[in-house]
Amino acid sequence: MAEKENDIQGTKWSKTIMRGRLKGAQRHKLRKLLHMKYRPSELAEEIAVNIEWIYKIYIPLGCPHERDDKEYIWIVGAEFCEWYLEMYRTQKLAANEGYCVSCKRPVAIVDPEKHNKDGLIYLLSQCPDCGKTVAKILHQKRRSGK
Ligand SMILES: [Zn+2]
Repeated sequence: MAEKENDIQGTKWSKTIMRGRLKGAQRHKLRKLLHMKYRPSELAEEIAVNIEWIYKIYIPLGCPHERDDKEYIWIVGAEFCEWYLEMYRTQKLAANEGYCVSCKRPVAIVDPEKHNKDGLIYLLSQCPDCGKTVAKILHQKRRSGK
């Protein structure tokens, strides 16, 4: 039963991760983000994605953001860029490391579960320091289209 639940969670994760991948032109825009606070709508416009991506993909995946006292979300552009590149990169980390979005640094992968969904192979484990889920992408299918 627990296994089935993990599988459901894994599917949800992989879909979320896959949906949030940027194309070349969007990644180019991403690198131009400034070290200033953006509203989700401004950020979405800057990198040419639907605003829903910010709320339904990047924030659930743990992108750096803050809420002000009116519950408005603010995202520092340069921090978002750094986070995105860490989240979606497949090579720079050591084989036994994943990137903890909460600790904002590479952490050891301990007792990972391996998932393979729709051409995306990744590990889920728990950060040994903060306990938050750490996803590590091992392989991803190239995005089709231009
Ligand atoms: Zn952590």
